[in-house]
Amino acid sequence: MGEQVPRPEDYFPYPEFRRYQREVVEFAYQVLANGWIGLLNAPCGIGKSVAALTAYLMAKDAGLMEQDAKLMVLTRTKAQLEIYVREVRRIRDVLGIDIKAAVFASRQDMCPLRLENPSLAKARYKDFLRTCKQLRRGVGAVCPYYEGTYRSRFKISSATRAAVARALRTGATLPGELVELCRDLGICAYEAVKCVARRADILVGNYNYLLLEPVREAILWRFGVDELGELSCVVDEAHNLDKWAVDIMSDEISSFSFSRAAKEAEEFEVPDRGLMAEMVDLVDDMGHETYKLYGPEYERLVDPELVADMLLDRLGLTSKRVLLSLLRLLEDEGDRVRLTRAEEGQAPISYVGRCASFLRDFLSFSGREFAHYSLALERDGRVRGRLGVRCLDPSMTASVLNELRSALLMSGTLWHRDYYVEVLGLDRSRVKFMSVPSPFPRENRLLLVDKAVSTKYEFRVEQEFEAIARRLSVLLKAIGGRVAIYFPSYDVMEEVLKRLKLDVPHLAEERRTRVEEVMAFMSSYERCVLLGVARGKVSEGVDLSAGGRGLLSGVIIVGLPYPKKTGLQEALTAYFEERFGRRGWHYANTVPCLVALAQSAGRLQRSPSDRGVVIIMDKRAAGRFKRYLPREWRADMMATQNLEALVEAIR
Ligand code: SF4
Repeated sequence: MGEQVPRPEDYFPYPEFRRYQREVVEFAYQVLANGWIGLLNAPCGIGKSVAALTAYLMAKDAGLMEQDAKLMVLTRTKAQLEIYVREVRRIRDVLGIDIKAAVFASRQDMCPLRLENPSLAKARYKDFLRTCKQLRRGVGAVCPYYEGTYRSRFKISSATRAAVARALRTGATLPGELVELCRDLGICAYEAVKCVARRADILVGNYNYLLLEPVREAILWRFGVDELGELSCVVDEAHNLDKWAVDIMSDEISSFSFSRAAKEAEEFEVPDRGLMAEMVDLVDDMGHETYKLYGPEYERLVDPELVADMLLDRLGLTSKRVLLSLLRLLEDEGDRVRLTRAEEGQAPISYVGRCASFLRDFLSFSGREFAHYSLALERDGRVRGRLGVRCLDPSMTASVLNELRSALLMSGTLWHRDYYVEVLGLDRSRVKFMSVPSPFPRENRLLLVDKAVSTKYEFRVEQEFEAIARRLSVLLKAIGGRVAIYFPSYDVMEEVLKRLKLDVPHLAEERRTRVEEVMAFMSSYERCVLLGVARGKVSEGVDLSAGGRGLLSGVIIVGLPYPKKTGLQEALTAYFEERFGRRGWHYANTVPCLVALAQSAGRLQRSPSDRGVVIIMDKRAAGRFKRYLPREWRADMMATQNLEALVEAIR
């Protein structure tokens, strides 16, 4: 680095750097100063958020970024967002630097009207957005908070000016705090934070603020950014970016939603020509066929043109174009239903609107980048069909990163840089990579592999589940304390749980389980077992700690969490093979497995003093798969078939 490089300690709001933190600041500085796209693989505990903010201040002060250069920070969870608020405030308090952030939660979370109208709070997000839009336009009713925000079309009210001034004075305001303030002032907190953005240096929000074009366009001009090339961006927990990028272009719906839409159409006299009722049969028929062929939870590919033809035939319509205009009309009818419901004090929900939007996307998203599928779920002995469309290509939205001035993608599990470069469609000539080891003492984490079992598909038989359950009982006793067990899927969890005798309290994750429930459960017992699935709510992005210490004494990963083999997964593999050749299979299957493995194991150590054991119960982990693991994992791993040896190692 040249002589003009500012000293990190002058911009760092703590007395000393944590292990590897200074190196991370220097890397982030180089990324921002040189207009790179940086991939930073740095595990939990290093303090990446404050390191990124320090680097931003350094780059600005060194004149390598313009003085008014703006930074967008993208986070996935509320907890991550709160960290940035805390660090901005600390920089202001400790260093006296006048840095300001506009902190965005979703429009629904920042809506004060929802606090007095619980039906608005209960509405699904898309329903809420359409209702809010109508209220802002004054269709049927008006939003008093929106009216209070503006004096005229282009002028904010004095109450809004007061709220903005207060938010700017504190430097960073939590969305909840701003909602309280704005509620008292009678203005909309989401509109207010947009006004804060104009004068802020940093915008904190979720990935949609960059990836979703309409949201990006609506926010950036408020943030004072005319061109993406002026903006730098930090993406926290960036290993989620690939999934988020495809999720925003994907959707799935059940026959149950169509049956509610059919009832709604009747009740509100929506002229749907019987479409919703036809869809109930169609989705269920396809679902039953999928179930007969492959069982539950299997995504079988279907041809959207066949679905369109069947619908045209059943409804007596002449062309797909006519069908699409009917769907647009039904989306508008959905707005009418929402409004009527809101006027009657009910939640502004419309199943007709929701189903019409889904179907329009299902029929319009076409080409190799999309896969359409049918799925069956079994609940209480009843089989119900679902229909979905999935985007296969994260680069369709994520390649917007190339247009930025610079971008720093940070995570503890960016183990395979080529995957992120290729799958996100990053400009390789601008990409720089840095990887740092865990700052926590390696001797505090024991890494074992139980080579006697596996969840490979051909091994998924009764004896194998029995063996896993038997060995789990012994290992749980040896570990003691609080233990999390992660399974590759709900099916495997169910099979093992049926055979597992637990003599301590346990909580098994369901699709509806909330993180708050899990934290309350874990805090209530000193010895207990949490059972979850890989890529689930309790294995990723959740901080299982209290008072700065990790809650777990052990993490057991039952089976390598490869994605389930389904028609949809095969379509993804084929698409990646077409794009990336021989690396395609690895990208579609091994990398997601590695990320899920690392995320599950990462629940164990949350502070330097946490000690515990990670056990992978799958012989494949010690075989060819091992070469994909980080060096420290390979070096620390002890693998054996001998249960007594495993127990001995734990003790
Ligand atoms: S304008 Fe603001 S306060 Fe009004 S409904 Fe929309 S988000 Fe809520």
